[in-house]
Amino acid sequence: MSTIVWFRRDLRLADHSPLLAAYARGEPVLPVFIWDPAPGPWATGAASRVWLHHSLAALAQALEALGSRLLLRVGPPAQVLAALVRDSGATALMFNRRHEPAEQVLEARLAQTCLPPLDLRTFGDGLLLDPAEIRTGGGQPYRVFTPFWRRLRDVLRPGAPGAAPRALPSPRTWPSGVALETLSLLPRIPWDRGITAHWRIGEQAAQRRLARFMADGADDYLMQRDLPAVNGVSRLSPHLHFGEVSPRQIWHAVEATAAAHGLMTVPEPHLGWLRQIAWREFAQHLLVHYPATADAPLREDFADFPWRADAAGVARWQRGETGFPIVDAGMRELWHTGWMHNRVRMIVASFLTKDIGAHWLEGARWFWDTLVDADLPNNTLGWQWAAGCGADAAPYFRVFNPILQSTRFDPHGSYIRRWLPALSRLPTAALHAPWDAPPLTLAGAGVRLGRDYPEPMLDHGTARTAALARLKRAAP
Ligand SMILES: Cc1cc2nc3c(=O)[nH]c(=O)nc-3n(C[C@H](O)[C@H](O)[C@H](O)COP(=O)(O)OP(=O)(O)OC[C@H]3O[C@@H](n4cnc5c(N)ncnc54)[C@H](O)[C@@H]3O)c2cc1C
Repeated sequence: MSTIVWFRRDLRLADHSPLLAAYARGEPVLPVFIWDPAPGPWATGAASRVWLHHSLAALAQALEALGSRLLLRVGPPAQVLAALVRDSGATALMFNRRHEPAEQVLEARLAQTCLPPLDLRTFGDGLLLDPAEIRTGGGQPYRVFTPFWRRLRDVLRPGAPGAAPRALPSPRTWPSGVALETLSLLPRIPWDRGITAHWRIGEQAAQRRLARFMADGADDYLMQRDLPAVNGVSRLSPHLHFGEVSPRQIWHAVEATAAAHGLMTVPEPHLGWLRQIAWREFAQHLLVHYPATADAPLREDFADFPWRADAAGVARWQRGETGFPIVDAGMRELWHTGWMHNRVRMIVASFLTKDIGAHWLEGARWFWDTLVDADLPNNTLGWQWAAGCGADAAPYFRVFNPILQSTRFDPHGSYIRRWLPALSRLPTAALHAPWDAPPLTLAGAGVRLGRDYPEPMLDHGTARTAALARLKRAAP
């Protein structure tokens, strides 16, 4: 008699309802993670695999400290779970639900095949509110964020997060599992050094980051969140994606901070940050109700949109060689650290889909492979928003001007200088559009365009006019 706890995107011990429910049954607990190496359009990307490796290592260590262990198995989850139930004689299976389309199919299948006497119980720790529980007054799913956020605040009463169990009873003999290295999540060529140098991975690191942000960053969030050179955002996204921290813990941390300062309500900057957490809820809500949107635009008038095929242009964008410093700085931050600031994500996404005119899926797939926080709902929402074909999309005629964005959000050029050292000696006025700088200024900073840094790959004004014409014809 034992209880299987299937860890998925909830790689933590605290505020983990399946683990607490398993512990409460008083039987041995079998924590398991299943790696499904099957290829697919949204199979775990390369940067995410690196994160996953380290997160699993941290979780295994934390479980060992409780006298337990993390069992690793490989294969299609439904089959692996069935085999594990057979091997172990488990009487219960507990896990947190996920909301990506393929996971929903899998969970429906499990519900049909895991029949009594096996006690199958699922939980919803990954979100503040189950996507099925929130609807417009007319009973429809939301497609616009602001009313969704209003409704979420009205109905949401997240309870206090659960503590981690102090010990976990183990079975007398453990079923077989594989070693973490067998999953081959780390690359053979060690291109991941930037990622591992940049991040601390695992539940403890996530909790420390949350505490630090509440202490040092949250008060200035609304003023600083758009400035990529400043440490003004939480950088919790990969921790949230892998469930090293739960949204309930975040909500609670914000409320507890307000209470500690004797406040009856959450102060405005902290509420502004919770609003971003609600964007994450909104993204999952959309993908649950419109599951085709991971691959197809939400707005039907974009179904036959004339995206431009420009493999060379996309490759320059991917390498951070467009010649537009703010775009290139962002793409290099992404390549080196596996993360990019939200403002810059919007700028590079607009550049790819509007200036270059490439399909938003080209960008979504590149982000998918290179982001440590690659998250199907959030990535889909972000790309469709930028391309103008999604929910709450920017009006189609909004084409970000990369030079104005750069001047406004990186006014001192610190972000550009950090990621494009070749331009670091340019005076700030010349940094945002170096091709406009006088030759003497360029020479004085040791910059020869076309050699030390690329010439701009296009003229933004011309590209903008062409983008507007395409948008007007296809989706007026
Ligand atoms: C083109 C594009 C692609 C994106 N792809 C992803 C992705 O794959 N994974 C991902 O987690 N986010 C994605 N985002 C959203 C956003 O850029 C990141 O969540 C954010 O930059 C993470 O940094 P942070 O943790 O410091 O955010 P904070 O500003 O501290 O916000 C806290 C949390 O709120 C959530 N959040 C914040 N902004 C958004 C948003 N716009 N949409 C949904 N959730 C949000 C995230 O979980 C984030 O960790 C994308 C945005 C764009 C424009």
